[in-house]
Amino acid sequence: MRVFKFGGASVKDPDSVRNVARIIIDHHGSGPLVVVLSAMGKTTNALEQLCANFMEGKTTAMLKIFEQIRDVHFDIARDLFPDSKHAIFKILEQSFYHLYYYISEPPGKNYNYEYDRIVSTGEVVSTQILSAYLKEAGLSNRLFPAQKLVITDASFRDARVDWILTTQSIQKQLTPFLKQGAGPCSPSLVITQGFIGGTPQGFTTTLGREGSDFTAAILAYALNASEVVIWKDVPGLLNADPKLLAETVLLDNISYQEAIELSYYGATIIHPKTLKPLLSKNIQLKVKSFHDPSMPGSVINDNQHHDGQIPSFIFKFNQVLASIFPKDFSFIAEDNLSIIFSDFARHGVKINLMQNSAISFSVCFDKDKTKTPALLKDLNKNFSVKYNDNLELITVRHYDKANLQDIIKNREVLLEQKSRTTLQLVVQKKT
Ligand code: ASP
Ligand code: MG
Repeated sequence: MRVFKFGGASVKDPDSVRNVARIIIDHHGSGPLVVVLSAMGKTTNALEQLCANFMEGKTTAMLKIFEQIRDVHFDIARDLFPDSKHAIFKILEQSFYHLYYYISEPPGKNYNYEYDRIVSTGEVVSTQILSAYLKEAGLSNRLFPAQKLVITDASFRDARVDWILTTQSIQKQLTPFLKQGAGPCSPSLVITQGFIGGTPQGFTTTLGREGSDFTAAILAYALNASEVVIWKDVPGLLNADPKLLAETVLLDNISYQEAIELSYYGATIIHPKTLKPLLSKNIQLKVKSFHDPSMPGSVINDNQHHDGQIPSFIFKFNQVLASIFPKDFSFIAEDNLSIIFSDFARHGVKINLMQNSAISFSVCFDKDKTKTPALLKDLNKNFSVKYNDNLELITVRHYDKANLQDIIKNREVLLEQKSRTTLQLVVQKKT
C-alpha cells in the first residue's frame, strides 16, 4: 500500500489535473493506493484573503474573492468535463453553496475557528474534482473526508493530531476498503484531502500551512504503508534552493535524520512534521517530479551512507542578530539566560542560532513586524541590547565538502558557529 501526495501546483489548471490522473493511472496497478491532495494552485491564499475580509465585515471584497475562487474551479471543471450535465457540477455547486451560506452569517469571535471552517473548502473542492475525473477516466475510487480520518484537538489552524484516535479511525474506515479492491485486476484507490482534520466533536481543523505532506505521513503511519511519494515541480530534493544558487545537485538518497536536520535548519521542501512518523515505522519517502515521473527523484530512508557526500546550503533572510549584555557589567550566567529564554518563549520567537561569551549573549532570529519590537522592549528592561537587522543566516551541512568562497563573497561574516557536520554563518551583504 502506498500513499501519494500531490500539492497545489500539481493541480493548478485542467492540464495539470490530467497529468496527475495519468500518474495515478500509471502507478495504480501495483497495489492499493491512497492519494492525498492539496487545494488547487493558489486557492488557499485566496481563501485566507476571503476569511480576513469576512472577519473584518468587508462583504463586497469578500464576495469578490468568493466569485473568483468559484470561477477558477468551475472553469477547470468545465474543461475537464465536457458534459455540462455531469454530476460534478452539482457537487461543486453544493460545496460552494455551503461556503456561501456560511459567510452570509456574521462571523464568530474566534478567527482561527472561522479560518479552518472556510479555508478547508479548497481541499474539499479539489478532491471532488479529481475523484470525479478519475472515475470519468475509468478508475474507480472513493473519496473519504479527512475530517473523519485525521482526528485532532481543537487548536484551530495548528491542530495537534490525536494519534490513537486517528490510527483507529483510519484503520477502521480505510483498511476494509483497501483490502477489498475495486475488481479482480483493480486495486482500491482512496482519495482524501491534505491539510484538514476534525475534532472528535466534528469541527473542522487544519494542520498548518503546507500541512498536506504531514497528512500523507499520518495516513502512511496508520496504514503501515510501504512508501510515501510526494510529487513536486522539482526533480527531487536539491542541495539548495535553485532560485538562490546557480548550480544545485540532486540528493539521490539521504537518511531520515539528515532530512530532519535539513528541515530543522530551514530547508522548505518537505513539511517538517512529515518525517518523524515515517521514521518511526521505517516507511520510505520519495520526492519525485510530476513533470517527469520516469525520473527516480530522491529517496529518504534509513540509509545514512550518502548523507555526508554532498554539502547542502540553506539560506534564511531577514534575520536579526542581537547581542545582550547584563546592565550591571556582570558575566552572562544561568540566571540571566533564564530571563532571556523566557522573554523569547513568551513572545513566541524561535532562536535560530545562539552563542555566549563572558559578557554578552548573541542570538539570531527571524525579524517579525510585531514580535521583534515587543521582544526587544522586554529584553531592554533587564539588559542592554545591541542589534543588527537585514542579515542572512547561511547554514551549510557537510561544509568540509563545500566551496565556501562563493557563498561568502560580497558578504561580511558577523558570527560563525561550527559543529562536526554543520557550519552556520550570520552575514551581512556588503554594499
Ligand atoms: N493547501 C494548503 C496550503 O497551501 C496545504 C498544502 O498545500 O499543503 O498551505
Ligand atoms: Mg499548497
